[in-house]
Amino acid sequence: MTLRIADCGLRIADCGLRIADFLTTPIHDQSAIRDPQSALLTLVAAAFGGVIGSFLNVCIHRLPRGASVVLPASACPRCGHELSWFENIPIVSWVVLRGRCRACRAAIGIRYPIVEAITAAMFAAAWWYYVPSALLVSRLLFGCALIVLFAIDLEHHLLPNVITLPGIVVGFLFSLVTEPGWQASLIGILAGGGVLFGVAEAYYRVRHEEGLGMGDVKMLAMVGAFLGWKLTLMTLMMASLGGSVIGVLLIVTRRGGLKYALPFGTFLALGAAAAATVGPAVLDWYLGLL
Ligand SMILES: [Zn+2]
Repeated sequence: MTLRIADCGLRIADCGLRIADFLTTPIHDQSAIRDPQSALLTLVAAAFGGVIGSFLNVCIHRLPRGASVVLPASACPRCGHELSWFENIPIVSWVVLRGRCRACRAAIGIRYPIVEAITAAMFAAAWWYYVPSALLVSRLLFGCALIVLFAIDLEHHLLPNVITLPGIVVGFLFSLVTEPGWQASLIGILAGGGVLFGVAEAYYRVRHEEGLGMGDVKMLAMVGAFLGWKLTLMTLMMASLGGSVIGVLLIVTRRGGLKYALPFGTFLALGAAAAATVGPAVLDWYLGLL
């Protein structure tokens, strides 16, 4: 019994020493005890992501309406009540206000906290997975573009040039210093844009109506710029597969005919997100089978 108490005391002393050790070790020398630090920084990344998600919401609401994303300050679309800082806290404000405007009680869409939560999770995961690098910045910019395109295409069947065209340029510029390298990026732009342009042209010649919009063409070119041609082809395959499955489900459940226009950009965004995260592992596995 006495032994056990002594042992316990020793352990507590040991634990105290470790904490003291952690507190007094210089930051650059904490590689062995880095976990608490990276956990904290991951939380900071998530909070930062929530704020960025709040801005993405502004883009999603205003870009299809041709309004500026900078001015004026955020306001309730119904009564014009300007949001003060405590009504603008990502996720928290929506929950506290129970999804309603504080002035007129108009409902505020669930899209707002969802976009903020997804962006926060993406920033946290990216921070955890990538070391601070050009690739981390590139992937985060790409992810933000995908979130905005996903939401706007879902609601408006629209993929704004103001996202896709600068996206192609930014993706290519990053490829000069990081993955996938400029050659793969350039081939990705040409292949991604080219394949869909061919499909759109062929559909138009045969059916004399527009099946695929030029927005989809430019969006896949942007995916090519950021991910390179291999993951772009994977994006296209996954988006087509996802679109077909949902399309068939809609026909079977009689909620839409063959001509029911599915927002293909929404599927491209999901496909690109999958390709950017699990794509390299899937490619390795597939090439290992050959
Ligand atoms: Zn209001």
